[in-house]
Amino acid sequence: MRVGFIGLGIMGLPMSMNILKAGYQLTAYNRTRSKAEPLRSLGAYIANSPREVAERSDVVIAMVTDGPDVEEILFGREGVVEGARPGLIFIDMGTNSPEYARSFAERLSKYGVEFLDAPVTGGDKGAREGTLTIMVGGKYEVFKKVEPILRAMGRTIIYVGDVGSGQLMKLLNQIVVAINMVALAEAMALARKAGIDEEKLYQILSSGAANSFTVQYYMPKIMKGDLEPGFRAAHLKKDLGYALKTASKLSAKLPATELAYKLYEDLVRIGYGEKGTHSLIKLYENLKSRSE
Ligand code: NAP
Repeated sequence: MRVGFIGLGIMGLPMSMNILKAGYQLTAYNRTRSKAEPLRSLGAYIANSPREVAERSDVVIAMVTDGPDVEEILFGREGVVEGARPGLIFIDMGTNSPEYARSFAERLSKYGVEFLDAPVTGGDKGAREGTLTIMVGGKYEVFKKVEPILRAMGRTIIYVGDVGSGQLMKLLNQIVVAINMVALAEAMALARKAGIDEEKLYQILSSGAANSFTVQYYMPKIMKGDLEPGFRAAHLKKDLGYALKTASKLSAKLPATELAYKLYEDLVRIGYGEKGTHSLIKLYENLKSRSE
């Protein structure tokens, strides 16, 4: 199968590299062309548009920011549908909503294009190491066709069910991820006030009942003052927004998610949207200086 890849950001670049390493012929596209250079040197063909990616591929994967961005690469100028032929499989691996997934599947079916929603978790680390967890919604027989390609990027591949169910699962995942980060930032803010030895705090949190990916991967970055993104704060705000919309449709009340959303909204407002989710510690510093 010839694979196409659109969106070579923090996640997309290493994911597409792993597809190349697995031996697939790869055509890639990135809106900002310079970011595609590392792939060209590894042997990928760099296309000039999503249309050209579709023309040269049997399966097209997208790893772009949000639902409207997927919409643009699919149906916008020089979009995927302009180069697609019946039987093409399009896999959306970014995070948006079950509603977007269902609408993409329906609109693409008019072109004979199959759709899967296959968001991922495991962070930039999982993307580099090819150890992502991938949750897939859509037709089972379509999933089985592309499963080997997904295996090039991930270790745990779970077929969830109908189209949209991958995105729904991902939103549940994000609730846990976000509240975990709020807990870590809050504990570290208090630790700093109390003059606690952060190295010892790390040893305790990462070895006991409080342990998590958030603690293991992001706490050392906070300790070093490295706020560069593995996962951008603005993206987590987006995900929590979709989780709350889903909850509202199902009349579910999620007070902790609402609080996490508000904290990330504030963090983005004070200018940390393009920094990592762990830059939430800066909001706590800001709260401190406001109360003094
Ligand atoms: P990123 O580094 O900001 O990359 C976003 C990519 O999307 C870039 O290649 C960008 O192109 C492209 N893009 C955005 N809007 C576009 C548009 N309208 N048309 C064409 N290309 C467009 O983000 P990321 O961290 O890789 O995340 C990508 C997706 O994966 C998001 O949905 C995110 O929530 C999800 N995710 C991220 C992580 C993580 O840990 N980072 C983990 C799991 C899931 P340019 O280079 O031109 O800007």
